[in-house]
Amino acid sequence: MPVTIQNFIDGALTAPQSGAYFDTDEPATGKPYARVPDSDAADLDLAVAAAQRAFPAWKATPAKERGALLIKLAELIEQKKEAFAQAESVDNGKPLYLSRDVDIFRAIANLRNFGSADLDALNQTFEKDTSSSYTLRQPIGVVSIISPWNLPLLLFTWKLAPALMAGNCVIAKPSEITPMTAYMLSELLNEAGFPPGVVNVLHGKGASIGNAITAHPHIKAISFTGGTPTGLAIYQGAAKQLKKVSLELGGKNPTLVFADADFDKAVAGVVASAFTNQGQVCLCSERILIEASIYEKFKTAMVEKARQITIGDPLVEGTQHGATVSKAHMEKILSYFDLAVEEGGTLLLGGKRRIVEGRCKDGYFVEPTIFENLAPTCRINQEEVFGPLAVLIPFADEAEAIAIANGTPFGLSASVFTGSAERGTRVAAAIDSGIVWINCWNVRDLDTPFGGMKHSGIGREGKQRALEFFTEEKTVTKLK
Ligand code: NDP
Repeated sequence: MPVTIQNFIDGALTAPQSGAYFDTDEPATGKPYARVPDSDAADLDLAVAAAQRAFPAWKATPAKERGALLIKLAELIEQKKEAFAQAESVDNGKPLYLSRDVDIFRAIANLRNFGSADLDALNQTFEKDTSSSYTLRQPIGVVSIISPWNLPLLLFTWKLAPALMAGNCVIAKPSEITPMTAYMLSELLNEAGFPPGVVNVLHGKGASIGNAITAHPHIKAISFTGGTPTGLAIYQGAAKQLKKVSLELGGKNPTLVFADADFDKAVAGVVASAFTNQGQVCLCSERILIEASIYEKFKTAMVEKARQITIGDPLVEGTQHGATVSKAHMEKILSYFDLAVEEGGTLLLGGKRRIVEGRCKDGYFVEPTIFENLAPTCRINQEEVFGPLAVLIPFADEAEAIAIANGTPFGLSASVFTGSAERGTRVAAAIDSGIVWINCWNVRDLDTPFGGMKHSGIGREGKQRALEFFTEEKTVTKLK
């Protein structure tokens, strides 16, 4: 029997007002396994009214007490972490080791990290001859968080925790494609001690409930992570009411490999950066720029390493590469592989759907895929595919590598592999992206600013930046 997911409104699990649900698939099997509320503006009105009622008392609750509830929620998730990890893998198709060691681990860390934040540290004082001033950071009111399907609970909690810690009441919308772990979290909110209305979780389609959130006059800020076209639509809609927005969007991230790099470390780093989570991490590299003098040797080693990735049932221990998230997304990725061929690319590895026999025979598996001979300006090297794809591009020198790296509309992240500390520092400064890793990939310190430039977003997340986003700053001045 499929599981029926419910909204969480005003402290209670609640069916959608319309009574309408839709099915969601298990990507590894292609079979429906859960029913999701098809929420609409009527559900949103109930949730916003509950959040407005809860706001005055929640705002007045000392930050330390709000943080204690986040830490309690982290503990409750930790007690059920294996169930959460299994659910994330069923819902998303990602291998269990990733759900355990990245998604659920980080979700717990997000709640703890923001739950222990010092809000007073955000305030400043200014002393002048005739006046002294100080700033206060105060909650905004009712805010919304909208999160994507690739790192479902990780990104949901990455937004939920600072919004609550800062004293806001939240309308949270997880992706319709991966609603399960947000639903499981909502089942723990009362036990953690959150008052009714402080957190409301609405499930449903972006086109209906998402648009209703953007248009709602009482939602004062939206923190969104997802694709650039959706981000643009939210930005335009939110502008009509001067809502505050934080947008974490897509990428077309480059990894630069110089001839002086530690070769084996670079090969391992590049393979991880291209194929982790079936290439469905906003930080994954789809463009691998390799210094010409080591191009052939690097290509051979990279293809060999990627060939060894174990593709299979995400729920089987030892699987390294699971299913992509949906049939539509698999088809989109495969259509990009066709485009790469049309654009004259040479296929070095993969390039097709993989049939995994047994219970997963109808699953949405796509092979780790590597192409070469594609100009940096062609569509496959300009558009985000968000799948297990790497295109190898040779470069002659540092200046050309930087020009290619910067030659897309995106600017989320980049990695540089080099044996020269000076070059690492120089190239990091020259690349137009919000994050640059030197001799590593996706090493995350949750306190550091996180976000993209250009079409990869507006604003930054991370400890201080997220708390700043979810608060209004007030300056108080008195004469001496
Ligand atoms: P989408 O933009 O399709 O969806 C993201 C969220 O927005 C989902 O909850 C979606 O709901 C919702 N949504 C869709 N349409 C609207 C709308 N009109 N108004 C309001 N909300 C809406 O992104 P994906 O889920 O496909 O996620 C993949 C994308 O996210 C990639 O581009 C990736 O690069 C980016 N991403 C960026 C990150 C970053 O930090 N910069 C991190 C992770 C991913 P529903 O699913 O129900 O349609």
